[in-house]
Amino acid sequence: MELLKEILDQAEELTEELTNLRREFHQYPELSHQEERTAGVVARYLQDLGLEVQIGIADHGVVGTLAGARPGKTVAWRADMDALPLEEKVAAPWRSQVPGVMHACGHDFHMSIGLAAARLLSSLKDRLAGRFRFIFQPAEEGPPRGETSGAQGMVAAGVLEDPRVEAILALHVAPNLDVGFIRYSPEVVMAGADRVFLTITGKAAHGATPHRGVDPILISAQALMQIQGFLAQRIDARHPVILTFGRITGGNRFNILADRVELEGSFRYLQDKVRQEVQQGLKGQMAGLAQGSGAQISLNFQPTYPILRNDAALSARAVEVLGRVLGEDRLKLHHPAMGSEDFSYYAARVPAFYFFLGVRTPGTKGHALHSPDFNPDEAALTWGLKAAAGLLVGLSEP
Ligand SMILES: [Zn+2]
Ligand SMILES: [Zn+2]
Repeated sequence: MELLKEILDQAEELTEELTNLRREFHQYPELSHQEERTAGVVARYLQDLGLEVQIGIADHGVVGTLAGARPGKTVAWRADMDALPLEEKVAAPWRSQVPGVMHACGHDFHMSIGLAAARLLSSLKDRLAGRFRFIFQPAEEGPPRGETSGAQGMVAAGVLEDPRVEAILALHVAPNLDVGFIRYSPEVVMAGADRVFLTITGKAAHGATPHRGVDPILISAQALMQIQGFLAQRIDARHPVILTFGRITGGNRFNILADRVELEGSFRYLQDKVRQEVQQGLKGQMAGLAQGSGAQISLNFQPTYPILRNDAALSARAVEVLGRVLGEDRLKLHHPAMGSEDFSYYAARVPAFYFFLGVRTPGTKGHALHSPDFNPDEAALTWGLKAAAGLLVGLSEP
C-alpha cells in the first residue's frame, strides 16, 4: 500500500489509543520538574515498542530512538510533559485526580500524539528512511528563578547529538483554531522573553517628613510611567515590544516610607536588535531617574526564552508535506505571537519547525490555555498524529 495512505489509515485506527493515552495523562498531571510518574508511563510505552530508550535526562526527560531501514536524515519530535498549578473546572469523567494541578496547556495532547507517532512509525520502520528521535521533556512552563527550563536541560544533556539531529519538530494545541486546522509561520513564531527585575532602594522616614527620606513607592510610579513612555515613543512603532510587571512589593506600614520596592515583570520582543535597544535604553532611563530622585535603582534582565524562529527552508518542506497529508486548505498562516516557548532552545541549535494544532470545537468559543476551563476537543488528536507522522516520515527521506 502507498505509504501516505497507510499512515492516514493507521492514524485513524489509533484514535481510541490516542484518547485513552490523553485521558490517562490528563488524570495524573504533574508540575514542572516533578513529572516522575508521567515519565515512567512514557518510557514504558516506548520500551514496549522496542525503541532504544534513555531516561532521567535533565530530571525526568525521556528520549526514544527508532531507526528506519534505509539511510536518511535524523528527525526529532518534541513533546512537553508538565502541567500547571490550577484547580480544574471541567467536569469530565477523566478530570484531574490531583488537587490543584491540571493539564491546562495541552501537554497531555502533545505526549499522546508523540507516543502514538512512535507506535505508528515503529510498525512501518522497514519501509522508512533515517532515524527518529522522540524527545519528551520536563518543565516547559516557566521554571522558578535560577532553575533552567526543560528544553535547556535536554539540549545541554546532548539530545540533539549522536547522531546529530538534522531537523526538530513540535506542535502546540491552539484553542482559538478549529479542529482539523493547522497554523504555521515560515519564520518567527513566538517572541523572545526576558524576566525583568526592577529594585528601587530609597530611605525610610516618618510619613510626615518625606523630605528626610527617599520614597521608593513614589519613584516606582515614576519609573513605570517612564518605562512605558520609552517603549511607546523611543522604539520604532513597527517593532513590537511588551513589558508588563506582574508583581510589586514594598513597605511595612501606612505611615512609614518604604525603604525598598521590588518589581518583577516580563519583557517580550520579536527582534534581537530591538531587545538590545530596549535593555540599554531603559537602563539609561533608570540611571537618570536614580540621579534625579536620590534612590538607587537596579534593573536586570534575565533571559528566559530566545525568539522561536522556524527554519525557512525546513518550513517550506514541512508545509509542502502537511499540504499532501492533510490538504492545503487545512493550513493557515500564523502571525508571530508575543507568547514564548522553550522549544526555542532547540530551534536555536538545529533547523526547527513548530506549528499549532486547532483544538476548538467548531461553533464554540473555546477556553484559553492556562485556564481552569480549558477543554480541548479530542477529535484534534488524530489530526495531530497525522501531521506528526506525516512530517517525520516525509522529512527523514534523504
Ligand atoms: Zn503553557
Ligand atoms: Zn504549553
